Amino acid sequence: MKPLAIALLSGGLDSLLAVRVLQLQSVAIEAIHVQTPFVSSEESAARVADELGVPLTFRRVGEDYVEVLRNPRYGFGKAVNPCLDCHLYMTIMARDMMIERGACCVVSGEILGQRPMSQKRNDLDLLSSRSGLVGRLLRPLSAKLLEPTIPETERLIDRARLCDYAGRGRRPLIDLAETLGVRYVPAPSPGCALTEKTFAPKLRDLFHFNAKATLWDCELVRVGRHFRIDPIHKIVLGRSADDNAKLAELAARDEAVAATLLEPESFLGPNAILCGPVSEDMLQLAGVLMAAYTRQIDPECREVLVLVSRRNASELKRIDVSNMAAARQTHVPLAR
Ligand code: SF4
Repeated sequence: MKPLAIALLSGGLDSLLAVRVLQLQSVAIEAIHVQTPFVSSEESAARVADELGVPLTFRRVGEDYVEVLRNPRYGFGKAVNPCLDCHLYMTIMARDMMIERGACCVVSGEILGQRPMSQKRNDLDLLSSRSGLVGRLLRPLSAKLLEPTIPETERLIDRARLCDYAGRGRRPLIDLAETLGVRYVPAPSPGCALTEKTFAPKLRDLFHFNAKATLWDCELVRVGRHFRIDPIHKIVLGRSADDNAKLAELAARDEAVAATLLEPESFLGPNAILCGPVSEDMLQLAGVLMAAYTRQIDPECREVLVLVSRRNASELKRIDVSNMAAARQTHVPLAR
């Protein structure tokens, strides 16, 4: 019977190749793609799974991932990216799937020395030990440079047919893809919002002011312009049609316990979410900022209508926008 392995599939080239290398020696693969609010790689992961012909399970991180973001044991990278803790979290999810399925190991596309924060030799050892996967975490692309895993010593997997890649270069991996007949070579990763420096002020603000922040709050951080009004109020404005749709979708979720959605009714402008207790002053301010952040409104306009929705109840509200120019100067977004 073929040995079964669980592969962490990111949607990138490395994990694709790691799986393909094992398929060449008849290892059966099931893949897991771990979804976080900060990376949009589901489509790419599905395409990679299709290319490989492997079943793919999507699993979202749980609420405990918020603590990884807030207080990572192994620190942050250049922005607010807790890569080692995040990798560990995902590896543990794959380990759980390995146990569920009775697989012989977890497979990862990690390459020794490729990423300064999470793929040094010590980091790879730490990931194995802290995930409880010592001897069961196989990195086929660098395996010959690492200690043999149990499936290798048990001859379920032929170590001689694994690889010895190290470092950051993508060219050798593209060459390997050609050699292995891979038809779909994913573009370099779409990127994780946590690595963007402009994103950091918004996430730090969230954790500073909200001790009970949830994944929903973290997902909101990824959308639009954020205005910190006071310790308990934040206003988020869409910057694009996609942002506006996402704000409406987030506000409609059950987890949106302290969110009020405002949509422009008498003008073309951004949607807004008001986070925090609702008051007339806060609704007025949110409406003024919506008017202040659109070019579609006459600067002489004195009043607009917005639709205010909260928990399936909606009402039209008149907003006095005579002070919108001043509001734009007073309230500066946390980051672009
Ligand atoms: S780049 Fe983002 S998703 Fe990837 S390990 Fe780092 S924090 Fe996690």
